Amino acid sequence: MSYSQERASRLGHVPIVLSPAVADALKNWDIPSLADPDESEITARCVAVSDLPLERRPAPAFALAFDGSSQEVEAKAGYPSIRVGFFQIAGVYVDILRFLGAANDGLLDVRELERAQVTQTVNSVLPGSNVFVGGASGSGSLRIELERAFASSRITDFGPPFSLTDALLTIHGAPGSPASSIKLSKCPVCGSAGIGVGNFVDIEGSHCNEPLCGSPLYVTDVLRIYEEFAEDSSNVLTLTRAMNISERLLLVSYLDGFYRTSRKSLSNGLFITDGPLAVYGPIAPMKSQFSSYWEQLCAGLEREDLAPPLLVGIEKTGRFVDHAHAIREAILPGHVMMLDTPYVNRHIVNQPEDHFYGKDEFYGRRFLYRTTTGEVLVVTVPRVPGGPPYEKPSFDGASGFARQASESWESYPTLRATLESLDSLQTRLYPDAVIPVALAHSASSLPLGTGKSVLTLLAQQNLGMPQDSVSVSRFQFSRPKV
Ligand SMILES: [Zn+2]
Repeated sequence: MSYSQERASRLGHVPIVLSPAVADALKNWDIPSLADPDESEITARCVAVSDLPLERRPAPAFALAFDGSSQEVEAKAGYPSIRVGFFQIAGVYVDILRFLGAANDGLLDVRELERAQVTQTVNSVLPGSNVFVGGASGSGSLRIELERAFASSRITDFGPPFSLTDALLTIHGAPGSPASSIKLSKCPVCGSAGIGVGNFVDIEGSHCNEPLCGSPLYVTDVLRIYEEFAEDSSNVLTLTRAMNISERLLLVSYLDGFYRTSRKSLSNGLFITDGPLAVYGPIAPMKSQFSSYWEQLCAGLEREDLAPPLLVGIEKTGRFVDHAHAIREAILPGHVMMLDTPYVNRHIVNQPEDHFYGKDEFYGRRFLYRTTTGEVLVVTVPRVPGGPPYEKPSFDGASGFARQASESWESYPTLRATLESLDSLQTRLYPDAVIPVALAHSASSLPLGTGKSVLTLLAQQNLGMPQDSVSVSRFQFSRPKV
């Protein structure tokens, strides 16, 4: 497991350039996220976790963490224009009580930890540039294979198979009650919104109702991942989008499974996703579906006098993580910092103070948490019982910006229990990480390094299959025992 090296390689393949030309240029450029704000600006926004509103709820009994990794490879050695993408996502179940029993002074009994976890992985192969399915175009091939990937990635932990497509329909419906069909805002082929009531598509697919088009439509077209497909260059971005939405839908598959079969257990769960509770690019409209699903889930549990589960996104990279490291010493251990929007605009994203940060992508709000051992976590937590996690800043006369409901601690009643749980799941083995996340990261990691040639070989074998020479979808499941 190479998690501990993660921070060292956060810049990925960007070399650290020591050229005088770069040093000169940097003298004239600003990096607001690394410029320490006044310490008072930070301390004024921090509170002790023990002073946060205390919600009456059971201590979490289990954690489910999700992570993914992806890689694009040459499908034919020596022909770099022919590409195939792989992604792998993993969900790791950790029995928290058993884990805490195994952890002693921050030292782990690895065998005991293994007994406390169950891993489930989903692997998927998607066509990249210059790989086609039947007579379809490049983006058409991606759409066909994405539909197949979602339909065939299924969990069976809660009874009948539940696929990523089922999860996608569920966030368009309600907890335990998937929508029977989804309306597409536009046809991926002709771009039309469709005639009459528009184009609806169910799990069986449909056809564009524009008479001159009639193209096949798939449920997964609602994600619009095809929009960023590059016909003749790298599709790393497309692959990342597919992986990220799959991670989030796999998490929904578990939320919904517990909701259907054991609501009390759902209340006892800590659900952790890699990255913020946000969706980017063409998938961004899905944030409304995630928000709506979450609100209905909270309301459904509330009707039975049950607390909502703990849901949190943890970021390992990005500008918020860098900023958190720049200011970490100003946050006392065991304290959490409210990142109000004017602060985010001024000190992290370099926007005007009234810029509406987070408007389009987020279904939770970011906080910085300094753990009791002094590590720093960037977490995203949803509002309960619901509501927008970010709002447009508004001036409040002479006193500056008004404090929004989305910037009030009371809007996040799960925050305290979430942070306290994450604190208890830290380990000295992995700085700035919590154990379930490190396990999910490890479980989802594609075999990099030597693995790249293995993946290339696999892609080539799939391409050479006579019965369906360009169809490259493949899934594996380990036996879940949740
Ligand atoms: Zn059409």
